[in-house]
Amino acid sequence: MRTVDVIIVGAGLSAAAAAKRLVDAGLETLVLERFQLPRHKICSGILSPRGHRFLLENFGPLPREALHDPVSCKGVTFHFPSMVSIPMDFFGGTTPHLHRKYSDYWAIQQSGAEVHDQTSFVGLQDHGDHVIVEARKSNEPVFYRARQVIGADGPNSPVVRSVYPEYQKSIPWFFVGQKFHEIIECPLDEQYFHFWFHPELGHYTWSHARDGRQIVGVGFKRGDNFAQKHAHVLDYFSKKHGVRLGDALDDEGCGENFGPSLINRYVFGKGNVLLTGQAAGFLNMIGEGMSCALHSGAICGEAIVEARLRNRPMQQMYRSMIASEVRRTSDQWNPLKIAFARPHEADFPAALGALNWRDRALVLRDMWRFVVLYKEFKWGRQIMLAAMQRALLGRYSPQRWL
Ligand SMILES: Cc1cc2nc3c(=O)[nH]c(=O)nc-3n(C[C@H](O)[C@H](O)[C@H](O)COP(=O)(O)OP(=O)(O)OC[C@H]3O[C@@H](n4cnc5c(N)ncnc54)[C@H](O)[C@@H]3O)c2cc1C
Repeated sequence: MRTVDVIIVGAGLSAAAAAKRLVDAGLETLVLERFQLPRHKICSGILSPRGHRFLLENFGPLPREALHDPVSCKGVTFHFPSMVSIPMDFFGGTTPHLHRKYSDYWAIQQSGAEVHDQTSFVGLQDHGDHVIVEARKSNEPVFYRARQVIGADGPNSPVVRSVYPEYQKSIPWFFVGQKFHEIIECPLDEQYFHFWFHPELGHYTWSHARDGRQIVGVGFKRGDNFAQKHAHVLDYFSKKHGVRLGDALDDEGCGENFGPSLINRYVFGKGNVLLTGQAAGFLNMIGEGMSCALHSGAICGEAIVEARLRNRPMQQMYRSMIASEVRRTSDQWNPLKIAFARPHEADFPAALGALNWRDRALVLRDMWRFVVLYKEFKWGRQIMLAAMQRALLGRYSPQRWL
């Protein structure tokens, strides 16, 4: 049985960041990835300025193949049912438009960790002083032994399932799906990621250009009909924005765990198993998850290094160190922070303030109607409680974390 210091499950960006910290500290680190690398990852690839800085500082300049066309993005444009549209540039200029298949592969290679791809995590047993991991490769079981295991395996994390078997059944799940269309005519500025605050279109509606095609994406509570939702959005884009697209050339979709970062309900692991990235619940506003995946992954790796060096309990160390990333992420959803601070990486209050009074009132009304769409998840009271704790104590309560 192969024995290493740390096993990381998943070869995404949170894994690459964690691996970088562990390898730099001299720990033998092995990454298990279920797919053959480089692997496809459904993602718009819009990187926030903070995510961009992390990649540059830790892995160096991005190779060209890690970018889609257009190669960069200026910011986001919000659209409202009242037909007000607000373009907002990212702080500090444009950011790269990542091609996740190649950017993630490049990052994991730059980390210096050993990678076993086509090796799917199946389960684990924590024996106190070591963990046994069971995986499958070419339909055969493979066993590994490590001192610690990191679950960096995304929203539908099998590591979360093996540590907290009931957790994923207890949270709401969304489906996000996108179709790739030939462009006949598209007035939406291709330098921006476009997002609709429109309750009749769905919980999450977006569009942007990629490699000569237009992506039209819809997100809704799991169980609804993708084809119908998508057709409705396409019709709306055509009538209201003059977008003319050919038939879809391709489509894809997946389940998403929106929610934990809104209500400060992260899952960080147990014993020798730590969870990070979207597996732990990190997701920023409008579904931007790469920057918090990178930062939480790095903190996770650092926590293992620190706990080993100082002979301190692993979970305690991780939870005290991860509090800064929890603040960053949950602040983005905190209504008090949105109203009185600048938690995002584009200036929404300034863009709103630049509108005339009538449009400002329409936008606020439209946003309220959009927020009401989420009423059924009963997040409102929990968000307000978290916001009050943040205001009074300067932090989000760690007691809410698993
Ligand atoms: C449609 C869509 C659009 C998005 N657009 C953006 C965007 O524009 N900007 C942005 O910042 N974020 C975006 N996100 C979110 C972003 O993609 C994620 O938040 C981010 O990739 C999370 O990184 P991660 O490392 O935590 O997990 P992931 O990137 O999900 O990586 C997890 C890895 O674990 C592997 N894995 C899973 N199960 C196993 C197993 N059993 N064994 C071994 N390996 C396993 C997976 O194959 C994968 O490689 C988008 C998400 C979706 C769905």
